[in-house]
Order: sequence, then structure tokens, then C-alpha cells
Amino acid sequence: MPFAKLGLSSPLVQAITELGYTTPTPIQEQAIPVILSGKDLVATAQTGTGKTAAFVLPLLERFSTAGELRGKRIRALILVPTRELAVQVEASVAQYARHLPLTSMAAYGGVDTAPQKERLIEGVDILVATPGRLLDLAHQRAVHFDELEAMVLDEADRMVDMGFVDDIHKILVRLPEKRQNLLFTATMTNEVRALASDFSNSKKTELA
Ligand code: AMP
Repeated sequence: MPFAKLGLSSPLVQAITELGYTTPTPIQEQAIPVILSGKDLVATAQTGTGKTAAFVLPLLERFSTAGELRGKRIRALILVPTRELAVQVEASVAQYARHLPLTSMAAYGGVDTAPQKERLIEGVDILVATPGRLLDLAHQRAVHFDELEAMVLDEADRMVDMGFVDDIHKILVRLPEKRQNLLFTATMTNEVRALASDFSNSKKTELA
């Protein structure tokens, strides 16, 4: 099935064609229509299955067709466990959004907060962040969640293993209640299930 059949429009189809993708992977085929419909999703998917594009493409599609009248505040938050993953996921977002007027940035610890704060003030649509640095930025009032529409927990099992559950809860209470929630994990453990239910009360689609 081609990407356009999944409901992605030409700026995105063009970007992924330029990257050499011809066919959606199974997780993309399953997740893209669900995410486009605005539903919450919990998906078990390993790295290498194309899971990043599975959540980034439909979010970009939704943002490209709605919400012109908005401020400079973040619309999607993608939480990841490590700095490396933050850099990698943000690079994918930037590639997929290359023909769209949407901006992204990565925020992670171990570097000065000042440049990250400056970028956030300029305005960012999609923020990819590690939990600790995001909380720092939130405490410094550098990031505002009032226009947030979607939240992604990527590699949720690694987040649990690395001890980020408390930080994630502290982030969740700051977010608008009405939002789309997406969770991706390589393994579905009881801890990940508990996190998924704290994270979203709405009816979730589950993909394994
Ligand atoms: P991920 O599972 O998100 O880490 O992606 C693994 C790799 O697959 C990345 O290098 C992507 O650029 C690539 N990729 C994702 N989707 C597709 C696709 N539909 N066709 C070809 N390559 C893809």
C-alpha cells in the first residue's frame, strides 16, 4: 500500500519519497490511520521497524492541515530516554517536515540550557526531549504546554528501566488534559502498562 493511501498528503509523501521509502512498514500501516483519527495508541514495536515515522508522519499531517491561528507554543511533545535518541528522533522529524512550515528541536541534559531556551522563545512546533531537561525548562518557565495537542512516550520500557517514571508523572500533570497520547515500547511489561494507564484514560488502540 502506498503512503498516500494511508492518508498522508503530498508534502509528506514527497519528503519520504526523497528519503527512498516506497512502502510503509507494518507498524506504519497499522499506526498511521489510528493516529490520524486522533485516537490514543499503545504500540509494541522494536527499534528498526520504522516506529519513529509511524508516529511522526501522522502528527505532522494533522498539524499541517489544522491550527493556523496559534501562538508559538509547542503542539507535540515527544519524550525519549536518552540524548542520543532525542537527537536522532528530532533529525527524523526535521527530515519528514522539510516541505512543511513546522519547526522542531531536541532538548536534552548535559549541555547549557540557554540556547535551548532561546529556541523555545522563537517558537517550536514539535519538541523532542528527555524528561529531566524538560522539567528543568518547565521550572524555568521556558516551555509552555497550553497549546499541546499530542504527547508521545517513545521507548517507554527504557524510560521505566532508567527510572524516569516519577519525572514522567511530573510532566503529565503540567499538560492539558485534552490531548492525544501515544506510547511506543519494545516490550510490554506491567510497569509499561501501568504507565500507559496513568498517561491516558481514553479508550486506547493497542497494537502488538
Ligand atoms: P526506526 O524503527 O524508527 O528506528 O527506523 C528504522 C530505520 O528505517 C530508519 O533509518 C528509517 O529511516 C527507516 N525507515 C522507516 N520507515 C521506512 C520505510 N517505510 N521504508 C524504508 N525505510 C524506512
